[in-house]
Amino acid sequence: MNCHKCDAKAVISLQHGSLCKSHFLSYFEEKVFRTINKFQLIERKDKLCIATSGGKDSLTVLYLTKKYLEKYNCNNELFALAVDEGIAKYREKTLRDLHHFCREQNIRLETVSFNEELGKNLDVAYPFINKGTKKKPCHICGVWRRYLLNKQARDLGATKVVTGHNLDDEAQAIVMNLFKANTKIAGRLGPISGIEEQELFVQRVKPLYFCLEKEVRLYTILKGWQVQFAECPYSHTGYRHDIQEMLNEFEQKYKGTKQGIINSFLAMLPLLREEERKQPEEIKPCQECGEAANQEVCNACKMKAIIQSC
Ligand code: SF4
Ligand SMILES: [Zn+2]
Ligand SMILES: [Zn+2]
Repeated sequence: MNCHKCDAKAVISLQHGSLCKSHFLSYFEEKVFRTINKFQLIERKDKLCIATSGGKDSLTVLYLTKKYLEKYNCNNELFALAVDEGIAKYREKTLRDLHHFCREQNIRLETVSFNEELGKNLDVAYPFINKGTKKKPCHICGVWRRYLLNKQARDLGATKVVTGHNLDDEAQAIVMNLFKANTKIAGRLGPISGIEEQELFVQRVKPLYFCLEKEVRLYTILKGWQVQFAECPYSHTGYRHDIQEMLNEFEQKYKGTKQGIINSFLAMLPLLREEERKQPEEIKPCQECGEAANQEVCNACKMKAIIQSC
């Protein structure tokens, strides 16, 4: 299999042909930069908080956001923010890689942990919360992680949170919301999250929106970065995992399935957002913590209260 651009040995086969190492690296980086420009993910005035875990997606988005700023002579302030959920034998390894990477790349790194901010690690909190609510680890983790990222990014003065969500993640989220008829939540997906600008929410942007998971994986390998490819021990427990398996099976049989989901969704997104604008959800400060909530007490505080009562 040879590169369709230069005839050198190919490292990947994509929908539009195969690419060698050097053509893949430039194709991948240009795709990310094009996404940032097309959807105006970064503006000159933005202070950027890169949400990082030390995994392949977050190292890639961290590196390429910095590279983008250098390429376009932007003076935006940028820092990395890691959330330590407290997942034994997993997160400590990825955080070690992250510290190493940030030192090498000369990037400021801030960390925040479930244990310090919410009182318990995920490993400890999960059985207590699950007992009464049947909530799965990924649900608890997602609520707390989004909560801490938003709060910490805003407190540190960030105007955008840059995340490493890739095309696979987004295709999974679209299908999950479709299967569960969550049209309101679906309307908040896309390269820039959120519908109305809310004072308490920091907007989230996704430069890897059009990058397949296998492309991100290959990019990190070709860059020679120290990165863990092991999966979180809880990753197989959620609904998302089953959707992921299904989409991977489809993609293998019918190349381009995931891209097709994204393209169809982007065509529908303006309609979903218009619907949301007509009937906006009421957002008010949580009575416990003051963070944005669509009910009296936010979900993060509700789960925190369960572990405090144990
Ligand atoms: S797989 Fe689930 S529990 Fe593990 S880090 Fe991701 S959301 Fe959290
Ligand atoms: Zn080539
Ligand atoms: Zn709260």
